[in-house]
This record gives sequence, C-alpha cells and structure tokens, in this order.
Amino acid sequence: MKSQGQKRLLKIYNRLFKHFGPQSWWPGETQLEICVGAILTQNTAWSNVEKAISNLKKENCMELGRLKEIKIKKLASLIKSSGYFNVKAERLKSFIDYFANHHRGNFKNLFKEKPEDVRHSLLSVKGIGPETADSILLYAGGVPIFVVDTYTKRIFYRLSLIVKTATYDEVQSFFMKNLPRKTNLYNEYHALIVMLGKHYCKPNPVCSPCPLKKCPARKNKKF
Ligand code: SF4
Repeated sequence: MKSQGQKRLLKIYNRLFKHFGPQSWWPGETQLEICVGAILTQNTAWSNVEKAISNLKKENCMELGRLKEIKIKKLASLIKSSGYFNVKAERLKSFIDYFANHHRGNFKNLFKEKPEDVRHSLLSVKGIGPETADSILLYAGGVPIFVVDTYTKRIFYRLSLIVKTATYDEVQSFFMKNLPRKTNLYNEYHALIVMLGKHYCKPNPVCSPCPLKKCPARKNKKF
C-alpha cells in the first residue's frame, strides 16, 4: 500500500507532467557532454552553459583527448559565458584527469562499479559536490538516484513536505524512500521541478497559474 508521502509525490509529479509535458533531459549529445554540462551549470542558468558548450564544440574540445591537452587558460576563455570560468576550468580539468586516470576515459568502466562507490569517488574530485555527482550518475550513467537542487528544497518546503533546514541528503532520501527506483521517473521529476522553479515557484512565487492548486503556501503564505 502506498504511504501518504508516496501518494503526494506521485500526484505532484503527474500534475507537473501534465502541465509541462515530457522534458526528456539531459540536453547533451554524449555522456562526456552531460558531465561537462553538469559541472558548468553550477551556479548559473543553462542558457549560459549552452554558449560555453557551443564554444567547446567549435574548437573540437568536446572530446576527452582535447580536454586533457587544452591549456587551462584557453579552456577558461572558451567557457567564459558559464561564469566563475577560472574555477570551472579547474574543475573540468580535475574531472577529466580523474576520469582518464581512474577509468581510462571509458564510461563503461566508470559505471560498472557499484553506484555508491561511483558517487563516493566522484565526490572526491575537487569541485564536484552531491548535486553534480548525482546529475552525472542519473543523466550520464542512467543510475536511479534523485538529484536535489535549490528549486527542490524551496518547492517542497512550500508544499510542507520537508523542513526549511533539510539537508541535501535528507531531501534526497525523502524522495528515494517514497518513489519507486526508476531512472526515467527521477530523470523527468527533477527536470519538471526545475521547470516549476523557473516559471512559477520563484523566490517571489507566481501562484495563480501554478498547476499545484492544493499547495498550502497559497493560503499560509509560507514563502
Ligand atoms: S502554489 Fe505557489 S508556492 Fe506553491 S508550488 Fe506553486 S508557485 Fe510555489
């Protein structure tokens, strides 16, 4: 029998899916491009990442060998649009070194390990935190792990399903305990949360067109 949490999470998912339609993430052509995008999107809008990825492709740099060879200054200049470009260039280099040295630059090698071990080793790479590691696991590796971001915390707090101070791990385990472990579901759910957060559930929420008509924050104004 489904618990209250399960029912509510699935109901919310269905409403969002009906409203926004399938999102079919991640917007990347290869596993490497997904990993690069996951690092570049830290603290910035996806539109800024798109420009950086397009620059990398123009210079034939969306390829492991080229990313290994390219000088860090040149890399930083290509990804400038994604913000914090010097830091992100270092992070990309750290990921590429890790991937080349530990997995011989082969995604089959990376994802053949147990998901918890892959996550642990990704988290050991400088500049890769839980959200980036989980995005890589879910979207590049097809591992059923729930990605949590600022939107997730804001929206589900307003829906009174989590507390304001909930940590990344607490929010992730709330979703994973209450949803079936399905990659497609986690993939779409996270993408739909991003849509809701971008369009309606902003810091100053736009509640009237929001599809979540039973959200308690509409009445209690707990923003
Ligand atoms: S009703 Fe308002 S507060 Fe609730 S999820 Fe929608 S936009 Fe956010």
